[in-house]
Amino acid sequence: MANERTLDSAKKELMETQRKMAAYEHALALMQYDGATTAPKETADNRAVSMSILSEEIYRLGTAQETVELLEFLDAHKDALDEKQRRMVHLLLKDIREMKKIPMEEYVAFQALLVKADDVWHRAKETSDFELFRPYLEQIFDTMRRFAGYVAPEKDPYDHWLSQFEKGMTKETLDAFFGTLRSELVPLLQEIAKTAQVDDSIRFGDFPPEKQEQLALWLMETIGLDLGHVGLSTTEHPFTTSLGSHFDERITTHYYPDDFVCSMFSVIHEGGHALYDTGSAPDLAYTVLDGGTSMGIHESQSRFYENILGRSKAFCRYVFPKLCELFPDQMKGRTADELFCAVNKAQPSLIRTEADEVTYSLHIMIRYELEKKVMAGDLAVKDLPEAWNRLYKEYLGVDVPDDKHGVLQDSHWAGGMIGYFPSYALGNAYGAQFLQRMKETVDVDACLEKGDFGPINQWNREKIWQFGSLYTPGQLLERVLGGPFDPLPYVTYLKAKMHDVYGV
Ligand code: ZN
Repeated sequence: MANERTLDSAKKELMETQRKMAAYEHALALMQYDGATTAPKETADNRAVSMSILSEEIYRLGTAQETVELLEFLDAHKDALDEKQRRMVHLLLKDIREMKKIPMEEYVAFQALLVKADDVWHRAKETSDFELFRPYLEQIFDTMRRFAGYVAPEKDPYDHWLSQFEKGMTKETLDAFFGTLRSELVPLLQEIAKTAQVDDSIRFGDFPPEKQEQLALWLMETIGLDLGHVGLSTTEHPFTTSLGSHFDERITTHYYPDDFVCSMFSVIHEGGHALYDTGSAPDLAYTVLDGGTSMGIHESQSRFYENILGRSKAFCRYVFPKLCELFPDQMKGRTADELFCAVNKAQPSLIRTEADEVTYSLHIMIRYELEKKVMAGDLAVKDLPEAWNRLYKEYLGVDVPDDKHGVLQDSHWAGGMIGYFPSYALGNAYGAQFLQRMKETVDVDACLEKGDFGPINQWNREKIWQFGSLYTPGQLLERVLGGPFDPLPYVTYLKAKMHDVYGV
């Protein structure tokens, strides 16, 4: 070796390598963002050329012999690293070590399978033809079971994948979690079904997109986003992305001219993701620790702002005068309490992405139970549609008319994201635990009534956001809550809200 590597030079190299990765990822994210927002619709193939080259470069940089040697050198000297550096090395090495356990040709074949499966899934969904998709889904389940065996032979395969998406998560924890939700929420929904339906006509009417955009920008500022660093644009399916680092964050929304509520809460939801990302400590920028630690914690923040804060009575009262100002004719004769009831209407439905706060976790529970069984070999892929329909009837009381509105509705399985769904429901439950803790020192309702997010954001920044990915979800929960994950505060929170809305 021409230049002897010293600890100092290695630390510097570690930061430089991550900056380079962040730069490639910046370019990739910008192309994805462009594709999902303003790019003309026939330009996807053009972007795909550049994106595949950039993806390959990132992969090469991350797995290059030079990078591996650097990381192993630092790992061998980990006592001389600070907490952040140690975590960076751990995360980067973990990926490489896991990759090495999977035979290269099988990995490449799986990537090709996923590209094909996604395409077939789109067609299968359009024509509601599960049989078309079935062979691909069988292969995806088989491959993921096999890969889990390569990477973590000592673990149950489904536990392995759960932990890939939410570090430390297991079937045991989730069985208890969903068991609690099932025994508490299914009867709650049956109670609600017996009461008079909520009138949600306040949300429907004529709501020009230009006015909805004014509302969106006002909401972003209200919840505490810095519009100098967080942008807004429109898309088909709203999402949030960081470009290069948390210093440039973009959120997206979709305006429905006849219903202002969809965009309103989508903006607050994506705004919650953006608050979490942009709240990372500045020195985490351009490192693998920048941004949120897991999908579950990320959803805990987005859903905290959307549901716990955004759909609260106190915040509805704060927002209502703004709605009257923007939509004077539509809001004539309406009240803030009508808004509160309308945005908290609980109604079993077929489609997960359109579900309300109470039924949402039941949609997730159905997916969890099914993928758990298929991974364990207790349910065949060919029997998924029937099992899906049966559970929708049992938990939500709805009849699934066809597979398009049933087992084919989500893209996750086609994308090889088996084990990902539970994080959505976990996010809801984490958020309720955070709220309980926050209320010990912050008068949350008083803040919301004034539209003052300062103390709320300060609490989240100090306890959660600033750490980025420095801690695992479990470590973070332990730090914030002083105890482990517990689903009961979430159930208590939902019951209290449904009592307010329905009197049940
Ligand atoms: Zn989200």
